[in-house]
Amino acid sequence: MTVFDDLVGQDQATAVLRRASAAAREVVEGGRGAGMTHAWLFTGPPGSGREDAARAFAAALMCPDGGCGHCDQCHQVLIGSHPDLESVRPEGLSYSVKQTRELILRAAGAPTQGRWRVILFEDADRATESAANALLKAIEEPPPRTVWLLCAPALDDLMITIRSRCRAVNLTTPGTEAVAHVLATRDSVPWETATFAARAAQGHISRARALALDEGVRRRREAVLGIPRSLTGVGECISAAERLVKTAEEEAAAATTTLNESETTDLRRLYGEGSTGKGLNRGLVRGGAGALKELEDRQKSRATRIKRDSLDSALLELVSFYRDVLAMQFGAGVELANDDIRFDLDQLARACTPEETLRRIDAIMQCRERLGANVNPQIAVEAMMLALRP
Ligand SMILES: [Zn+2]
Repeated sequence: MTVFDDLVGQDQATAVLRRASAAAREVVEGGRGAGMTHAWLFTGPPGSGREDAARAFAAALMCPDGGCGHCDQCHQVLIGSHPDLESVRPEGLSYSVKQTRELILRAAGAPTQGRWRVILFEDADRATESAANALLKAIEEPPPRTVWLLCAPALDDLMITIRSRCRAVNLTTPGTEAVAHVLATRDSVPWETATFAARAAQGHISRARALALDEGVRRRREAVLGIPRSLTGVGECISAAERLVKTAEEEAAAATTTLNESETTDLRRLYGEGSTGKGLNRGLVRGGAGALKELEDRQKSRATRIKRDSLDSALLELVSFYRDVLAMQFGAGVELANDDIRFDLDQLARACTPEETLRRIDAIMQCRERLGANVNPQIAVEAMMLALRP
């Protein structure tokens, strides 16, 4: 088992990354490491797992065994708490030059654990032109142990000057069959559940796995897919919005509470709390308070990110619902993501026009954009629900 095993149907990309990890290891061990590159560009459509691939590669760089998947280094990278991994995504709709400059400064530091300093730049296509120029300079002259992993939907989304300095790894969306196969063989999921999960997740392997294995995830999906038929009036729209936002908050809380506590305990221990305090260096204590504050800030922004991600995945679920409705309205013989609720889809498909369905998909996409731009979630989701109302 390695960190690359989850990159289903990405044999070509995986082969490249494995070779590069071996080269990176050579460098760490003082060798030449031919084939190691300091700037990478992961491209692929949404759901192809470009961020997953970049993260797996980051783990392989940090891990003494080239990405074993179970050591401390791998684990910290995969859950996003590795001190040498900086994972960034635009806070608004685009990266500002100021954000990028700060990032470049941090990127220049030496790795704290001796291997690599990795910057995972998600949605690099959203960097503004001046931000991209700042980024270009950083990529042109990388510190010896810094590796940039940029992610974008397609090569064309980035300036040619950046593109030409990166090694490209292209990911493709794996088919339902391939994903189901992995779930069935590796996770021993019964075939029927595996196909259901693979179809519903539309090629997102981690989502498919969660759907197949976690009853809570399945229930949340059902609740989201039940929303369209519940929107019978304004009051219903508002309460549906409330529920959706609250679920995202609960998910974020569940995902972060234990992690936060153990991080805080570790940090307090690091700064000597629990000792008698006699020989305790005062500067160290002051430093401790600052570090604790910094950790709290980081935890807060992580919770916000998880909450936003959770909300976004619910919105994508809704998009898949209306996309299925549209496919039925056009009589397109494509595979339905939500085949298990065909009856609901069919009812709505008959009750409205394709134009209305398209308008609803637009409303959801607009809501996603507004959330990305930091609009209050309750307000953005409410407006969307009202637009979805028949
Ligand atoms: Zn490992």
